[in-house]
Order: sequence, then C-alpha cells, then structure tokens
Amino acid sequence: MIRPSERFDIDWDKVSTEVTALLQDLIRIDTTNPPGNETLAARFIATYLEKDGLRPTLTESAPGRGNVTTRLTGGNEAPLLLLGHTDVVAVEPHMWTQPPFSGALHEGCVWGRGALDMKNMVAAELIVLLLLKRHKVPLDRDILYAATADEEAGKGDHGPGWLLDHHPEQIDAPVILTEGGGHDLSFEGKRFYTCQVGQKGICRLRLTMRGSPGHGSVPHADNAVTLLCAALAPLAVEDLPLHPSAGLRLFLSRLGEGQDSLLAADLLAVLDVDSSDAALSRLPIDDKTRLSLRSLLRNSVSVTRLEAGSKINVIPSEATAWIDGRLAPGQTQESFLQELRVLIGDRVEVDVDQYSPPLEASADAPMFRCIEEVMASVDPGVPVIPSLSTGGTDAKHIVPRRPQTQVYGFMPYRQSPGLEEENLIHGHDERTPVSELLFATRVLFDVVCRYGGVD
Ligand SMILES: [Zn+2]
Repeated sequence: MIRPSERFDIDWDKVSTEVTALLQDLIRIDTTNPPGNETLAARFIATYLEKDGLRPTLTESAPGRGNVTTRLTGGNEAPLLLLGHTDVVAVEPHMWTQPPFSGALHEGCVWGRGALDMKNMVAAELIVLLLLKRHKVPLDRDILYAATADEEAGKGDHGPGWLLDHHPEQIDAPVILTEGGGHDLSFEGKRFYTCQVGQKGICRLRLTMRGSPGHGSVPHADNAVTLLCAALAPLAVEDLPLHPSAGLRLFLSRLGEGQDSLLAADLLAVLDVDSSDAALSRLPIDDKTRLSLRSLLRNSVSVTRLEAGSKINVIPSEATAWIDGRLAPGQTQESFLQELRVLIGDRVEVDVDQYSPPLEASADAPMFRCIEEVMASVDPGVPVIPSLSTGGTDAKHIVPRRPQTQVYGFMPYRQSPGLEEENLIHGHDERTPVSELLFATRVLFDVVCRYGGVD
C-alpha cells in the first residue's frame, strides 16, 4: 500500500516545523485545570483555523471554559471526529529542567506541560485537518475537529459532554479518535502498537456506618468506627469476581502470538478464574503492569478517604468511608454494588457519588482495521493490539449520551529508550520528541485519509 502521506505533494519537513511551532505555542498558553482558562487556547486555535479558511465555532460552557470545533466537509458517509482536550494538570515549576510553560525546544524535544497529554495530539489533529484542506484531499465523509475543555479535573462537565448537551451537531460522529493508546510496547522481544478500545467505568461511593454514641471511657460494641473498619477489612484481602472483556481477551491472545506455547497459554490462563492469579504471577511483566491487569480483569475498589469523630473522648455515632470503584467493561452500577455487598455486608449505607459506565469499542470494526492497515505499511511486522485503560478519557462523557459511538484512543508514538513517557505524563519534565510529533501527524493523516476512502 502506498501511504496517502506519500501523495498530495506534502513537504513533511515543513509540516514538522509547523506542528512543532504549533505545539510550542499551545504549551505557552497556561490551561492548568483548575481553573482551566481553555478559552485562551480555543481562541488561538480558532484564529489558526481561520487563517486556512476554516470556520471555527467557539463556545464557552462557563466563563473561561472554551471549546472550539470546526468541520471539513466531505462526502455523505458518517463523519469522523478528531477530539482532544486543551486543559492540562498542575505543575511544580521548581522540579522542572525547562520551565513548564516555555515550550522550549531542547535535546530534540518540545518541553512543557501538555507535550504528551495532550496538546501534542491537539496540534497533530489540527495540522491533519489543515493538510486535508490545503491539498484538497477528496474524502467520502466530513471530518469534525474539537479541542475541548475540562478533561483533567473533577467531573469534567465543561467539555464534550456539555457540547453534546448544548451543541450536539458540532461533535456528533459515530467514530472518534482521541488520546489513550497509539504508543508502541515491547513484550518478550516483540513490538506492538496499541489502540485503546476500552476503559473502566467509574462508580464512586460514600459508605456510612451508624452506631451508638457514647463516652470514650465506656466502650461498647456498637461503635460506628470499628463497625466501619470491620466492613471495609474484607476489601483488603478479597478480590471481586473476574469479568474479562472481549477487548482484554483479544489483547492477551495477540500478545501471545509468536511466543512460546507456555507463555501464550499463561496469557490466556489469566482470563480463567481457576488459574488467573497463578498465571498472572508467572507473566514476565513488571509489578505495575501486573496490578493494572488485575484491575482490568474485574471490578475494583480502593478505599481512599475516611472520616469519623472529632474528639478523642467521644465515640461518634457515624463513620464514613469513600471508595473509588472502577467497573470492568460489560458491568453495571447494579452488578458492581451487588458484588460489593457480599464483601461489606448489609449494615453499611451506600450512596453513589459519581457514576460513568465502562466502555469498550469493537476491535472488529472499520476504524480498527483501518489503523491496522496503515500501521502495516508504516512499521511492517509490528501488529496493532487493542488495549484497555484502568482510567478514563473524555469518552466517558460521550458514550453514555451516544451509546453507539465507537471511541478509539490512538496517538501514534514510538517510545524512546530512557525517556519513560509514562512517568512524564502528569509528571515533571513532560516532553515529546519532535520526531514523534511528526510521526503522529503523518500516521494520523494516513488513517484519516484511508478512513475517508482514499486508497
Ligand atoms: Zn489527557
């Protein structure tokens, strides 16, 4: 296959210069959330789009919380949305080698907060859109572009969810490309590219135990604090039941292709309730990955906050714990709460503070196959595997409102030895090599062209 990026007479050196400068400019706009101030970035992007004759729409979900969208018109097939968030997480400036909002170009990298999460993809997707327009690429569908607010903090109410509630036509597309996957990974001598198809759901709970108040000098058994501790104790030793999803099954089976038969068998044994723990402990992976896999296999709970009492000599009548619950794809709030009840018993009151369902897009679908085809020509012999995340992206605001939407996390990226990108995301010295920014821009151009009917 000839890559679409090899046609259309595109000067990729020039593109590299442009996308690098664009990312530098975006990093220099401080969109730390909270407070966000994404309107500053939205305005900048709107002006950039207008220079190429595109018509952006800027809307604010609250003062300063700007979302910018635009549409490149194509044929009659269903549109594709290129989605990115412009907000970033906070920094500790004194811990950085280069100032975090400098966008410095240093040692072949663009430095700054958002360089990996995810102003890099916001810039790459924007340039892809402009290249499609400048080179009059004939597409069989509209391409929508959205740079949105409020992914990184709290409930994320000011971004794509708000847009779908108030201006749905701007981002209404059955297929979405955004952050979450796309990086390569190595496993036992074989390389792969990931494409994120799914993520765990969120079910945050408040647990309240009530008991009898009293004087600290007269202990009794109906103590809310000790009763709550007893209810929580099983969570430290018991796992919730296994619920491996189709995407996780495919991830593990593809990881085992071409490996020795014992390893391939262990990868699949992870999915079986009788062998899961033992097989997981034998896998040649680091402990962090092992814990992530354990979490992906099931609904999970972490007790993250406790509150009870205010005086040392008073037995309080109430004790409260907060639980960060995460749901495996296919699970519901009800199924999760039923499983949890078995461990915590009947006495504790359970209130749901926040819920968003787990998601999983199909790996047996046109966009996934399109990504596979493109990567086969970009990096022959390196397969694409579906991946899942224990955390969440903006997909959680979209799929509950548009259940048929297929969201894929694909920011193409080759990890550099020694850079440990995973630790740089939300960490100090976040930076991205210029080479990978261009790599992503070009691969995404290929993917959008192919998906838009250019072969
Ligand atoms: Zn992000």
